[in-house]
Amino acid sequence: MKRIFTAIVLLISTQIIAQQKAWPEELITVPVKSNYQKTSTYAEVMSFISALEKKSDLLHLEYMGTSKEGKKIPMVILANPKITTPAEAKASGKPVLYIQGNIHSGEVEGKEIVQQIMRDILLGDKKHLLDNQILIFAPIYNTDSNDKMKQGRRPSQEDSPVEVGIRSNSQGLDLNRDGIKMEAFETAGLIQNVLLKWDPEMLVDLHTTNGTWHGYGITYAPSYHYAGEKAPYDYTWDVLFPEVDKKDR
Ligand SMILES: [Zn+2]
Repeated sequence: MKRIFTAIVLLISTQIIAQQKAWPEELITVPVKSNYQKTSTYAEVMSFISALEKKSDLLHLEYMGTSKEGKKIPMVILANPKITTPAEAKASGKPVLYIQGNIHSGEVEGKEIVQQIMRDILLGDKKHLLDNQILIFAPIYNTDSNDKMKQGRRPSQEDSPVEVGIRSNSQGLDLNRDGIKMEAFETAGLIQNVLLKWDPEMLVDLHTTNGTWHGYGITYAPSYHYAGEKAPYDYTWDVLFPEVDKKDR
């Protein structure tokens, strides 16, 4: 069994090395370039998006709003053929999925994987993911706090980059506790320019676990809002997650 495991690990490592060699410098993410010691700054995320934009005609860049400190919050719409308006999305008949990273900007892994998956869909071997859906990615939802990096912010997280940003936004608000009161600049942008405008079927919010230990590398949870409708909750829990789980094995 151990031998099989080692073989799989080796295979994965070989693939990662092969992939690294295949991508030009500007399309290799910061953690990969730094042997997972560093995470990307706001400017580095923006230049990664602009490198993708130069090489692909299936990408449309918009901003859902501007943070308190004046950073525009990017959202990248991936569709084949390219789509630039919600009306075009609706007319295509394809469902829209919205995926965001970095709501807590100490939890940087979602931000990095979103950049990588956008690259692999647009320029790598995952273009088929645009066959029947439109994907909107917001890699860096909490823009301001991402760049306030410091060492030792995630002491209970295994393999955290050396320096990461802080959890709250620059108004001192936890963006994952702002869905009802909507006081944050980011929440206003998300509601106005993503949810109401693009009307996604599903919202995926990426976090990193800190301080608790699980038997799994990746965990998930449905929306726990008790005033929400039961049917989407049941569908997520009873149909969607078991299917994801099955495909992940
Ligand atoms: Zn979180």
